[in-house]
Amino acid sequence: MTAEATIGVDLGGTNCRAALVTSAGQTGEVLKISTRMDHGYQALLEKLTGLCGQLRAEVRTRGLRVASVGLGAPGIINQDGLVLVSPNLPELNGHALATDLGNLLDLPTVVVNDANAICWGEALFGAGRCFSSFLTVTLGTGVGGGLVLNRGIWTGADGAAGEIGHLTVVPQGRPCGCGNRGCLEQYASATGIVLGVRERLAAGQKGLLANLPADELTSRKVAEAARRGDSLALAVFEEAGRALGQALAGVANLLNLEGVVVTGGASESFDLILPSIKEEIRQRAFEVPGQRLRIVRGELGDNAGILGAARMSLQ
Ligand SMILES: [Zn+2]
Repeated sequence: MTAEATIGVDLGGTNCRAALVTSAGQTGEVLKISTRMDHGYQALLEKLTGLCGQLRAEVRTRGLRVASVGLGAPGIINQDGLVLVSPNLPELNGHALATDLGNLLDLPTVVVNDANAICWGEALFGAGRCFSSFLTVTLGTGVGGGLVLNRGIWTGADGAAGEIGHLTVVPQGRPCGCGNRGCLEQYASATGIVLGVRERLAAGQKGLLANLPADELTSRKVAEAARRGDSLALAVFEEAGRALGQALAGVANLLNLEGVVVTGGASESFDLILPSIKEEIRQRAFEVPGQRLRIVRGELGDNAGILGAARMSLQ
């Protein structure tokens, strides 16, 4: 019998990354393409088909066979792999991506929300292994979330569960792309960190970041300034941690989870936000669920979504 592998795909607004995943959860070389959507949905399907074709060719040379394809994409995706709405890749809206890609590849194909894929990857192979119920918070351009309850992913009635990034933390706060104001995403994401610095600089505050050209201001630069003791940068990370801690205190009271796994590019600043996260949970949550909740960093980095999507295709 030929051994089987799966293909995991992490489809983002800018890039798409894909790799073969073995049954033991090992990923092969990660292939990366641009997903700029200026040529529309059909062109993206062709790109994805080409990418998976490359991986299938690699598999044959290794004496393996591809059993299925799992793809994580941004947006609300129902159980049939139909993209209900994708704010970051609107060209996918209303398309039966799983069916269309599966037909082109002639392989069983599932499409899931990208944050859920990351969560499932961490659940099986990363920092979530020791928890039966936990939340993944992905800090990147936005704030994503995935929820595992009793070792199963919880996607809700429409596939829309886990969107912790759009919990309101400041009722009259910054406007959010979702239409609400004061969402967690506007304070704890990489974008929110930069906004926090811009607001303070516009109000006349000074510091290491004051002389940086506007287009060079990134959350990484803010983190560097914070590590050098810059009080403006430290205040912005404290604000981000407080916002996240307020949301997580509510999560602790509602669900009494064992843990929170913090992932994503901006989780490089985990140490800068952790003290204020913990302080808010201590102040706001009930003592028992607040003390139970362990806040840890993800272990799989960029590969979590590929691993999780690949494994979800086997279910
Ligand atoms: Zn929002």
